[in-house]
Amino acid sequence: MKLYSTKNHHLSVDLKTAVFNSLPADKGLYMPTILPQIDENLMLNWGSKTLPEIAFDMAYALLKDDISSEDLKAIIEDAINFEAPLHPLEKDVFVLELFHGPSLAFKDFGGRFMSRIMAHFLKKEHKEIQILVATSGDTGGAVALGFLNVPGIKVTILYPKGKVSPIQELQLTTNGNNIEAIAIDGTFDDCQALVKKAFHDEELNEKLNLTSANSINISRLIPQIFYYANTYAKLKDQFENLIFVTPSGNFGNIAAGMMAWKMGLPVSRFIAATNSNDIVPEYLQTGIYNARPSVQTLANAMDVGDPSNFVRILDMFNNQLPVLRTMMSSYAFHDDEIRAAISAIYQQKNYLVCPHTATGCLAVTADKEVHPALDKTAYVVLATAHPCKFPDVFEELGITIEEPEQVKELYEKEKICLEMGNSFEEFKAYLMG
Ligand SMILES: *Cc1c(COP(=O)(O)O)cnc(C)c1O
Repeated sequence: MKLYSTKNHHLSVDLKTAVFNSLPADKGLYMPTILPQIDENLMLNWGSKTLPEIAFDMAYALLKDDISSEDLKAIIEDAINFEAPLHPLEKDVFVLELFHGPSLAFKDFGGRFMSRIMAHFLKKEHKEIQILVATSGDTGGAVALGFLNVPGIKVTILYPKGKVSPIQELQLTTNGNNIEAIAIDGTFDDCQALVKKAFHDEELNEKLNLTSANSINISRLIPQIFYYANTYAKLKDQFENLIFVTPSGNFGNIAAGMMAWKMGLPVSRFIAATNSNDIVPEYLQTGIYNARPSVQTLANAMDVGDPSNFVRILDMFNNQLPVLRTMMSSYAFHDDEIRAAISAIYQQKNYLVCPHTATGCLAVTADKEVHPALDKTAYVVLATAHPCKFPDVFEELGITIEEPEQVKELYEKEKICLEMGNSFEEFKAYLMG
């Protein structure tokens, strides 16, 4: 696999470079030069295949020149060792539960796959690397748990102090060993800015082998195409048109779905659901991309004011907004709508969704109002996190949540974290020291 930069299509680097650099020097994002077409005959056989088997078919098409098929199989079996079941909500609406991994969010796919890809490349080199990651809550947990005790890799996680849920904070701060957490006095955008600055700081890069683990890293994006393919395999005999509804913050998850579609996966449309941080729905409507500071919402893993992966989506559509509009719709919802949706789905369907997933459910209703129903169409809402990670909203609504075992164990553990302001000088001095 060769990759270029969204800012320079003449650049050509290999997978290893893209994985360890994370960002090209021109501050674009890496994209595969070729998105290989999946063989249609292969897809015909998917009905009887498991998630890891379908994941392998997709990954092999992309990575066959970089990793042997044996190694790739082992990496996938180790990384994708949990299910992604479909929960039927209505006869034409399904919820794709992506929260059955260790951190109870879809980011486990990215975190676990990336860590194993890095370990695969590092094995030969005896090198130490330091991963810096900014999280609005869920990335950090997935990265921490994905990298815990991986030799040769130290992980530093920055999160906005007071803006992640108690369970998320425990997932970030109770690991110890090679994982360290820093609570930043600021927003997620501040955390992301600190990390980005560090990657472009010469002095820091001379001293440390800095590597990113944010959703901008291509090795986090690749495993996210797996469950789109797996869902197609499960629904293809029943439905002719598939519409994926992805609750979006940095737009990595939905970008991965579009990569799968570009590889030939039959998808009719993609819908990005957002909270009040409605930069992308506004852009699709007006053609004006107006990045701005994020506002805090109930769906806080999507509190992003300048979605970093959106340039990848624009790149896949050659920056042609009219073409993008034929394939992508986007809707934004306020906290009161999110609250009402959680409550209504619980009352009517006896099913609990997290606030992020709720924006997806709301988007289905909104979309049905604008797009006439096609025959044999299924909406698939990606459930990005387990509801127990966002307990506040459920308390407000008088709903009690049964916590999974992984969570109960966290309460017993010791919490260790540093606190810091949002100045780059302070952060840099710490990393240098
Ligand atoms: C990260 C996250 C999102 C947003 O995903 P992007 O790939 O950044 O668009 C949505 N929901 C949850 C629960 C998340 O953790």
